[in-house]
Amino acid sequence: MKTEEMIEKAMKSLKENGMDPILAKTKEEAVREVEKLLWKGAVISCGGSVTLAESGILDLMRNGDYLFLDREKMPREEVYAKTFSADVFLTSANAVTLSGELYNVDGNGNRVAAIVYGPKKVIVVVGVNKLTEDIPSAVERVRRIAAPKNAVRLHTGTPCEKTGHCCALGEKDMTAGCASESRICRHYLVTGKQKEGRVRVILVEEELGY
Ligand code: SF4
Repeated sequence: MKTEEMIEKAMKSLKENGMDPILAKTKEEAVREVEKLLWKGAVISCGGSVTLAESGILDLMRNGDYLFLDREKMPREEVYAKTFSADVFLTSANAVTLSGELYNVDGNGNRVAAIVYGPKKVIVVVGVNKLTEDIPSAVERVRRIAAPKNAVRLHTGTPCEKTGHCCALGEKDMTAGCASESRICRHYLVTGKQKEGRVRVILVEEELGY
């Protein structure tokens, strides 16, 4: 399927799933869209995300207009606790399916926890490279791309850091994986239809993050 068709399908499904998506042509446009959804003095937080850093959204969060719970400047446990009552949580997703689901795999669990419950609003910024047909292909995407790249970035010492793919490639069981103590795939979240108004997706027509 062509990328344009995938974008059209995903946008329609996300809309039906209550995540009122915005399509941004570039990462600069995505920053402007995020800015429109925030307000001065809002308590904001984010999950660890290459997408937010690459797009310039992290810089926006640090510009002084917001009360940013910045884990580079505050103890992580304090950030995680305060994120629960934040106004807005910003994150990416590991994959977005053409049926309008978000798929996320987390090690620590703070990112998926905040997507599920707590922050009043959740803004999810994703590049087109993260669109997948369905959940099985989202699972494969994480095993082939997202998790191994994160493993290299975080020096986890897990099998995927060395081989470049998950040892459970092709396994049907969603939670199949390595036995490493430092495994980064521990929590698996599929976000389906939402109540209108809490979760908002910004789909960017560029490759962002992994
Ligand atoms: S389960 Fe282990 S090997 Fe597989 S992607 Fe996750 S950390 Fe890597």
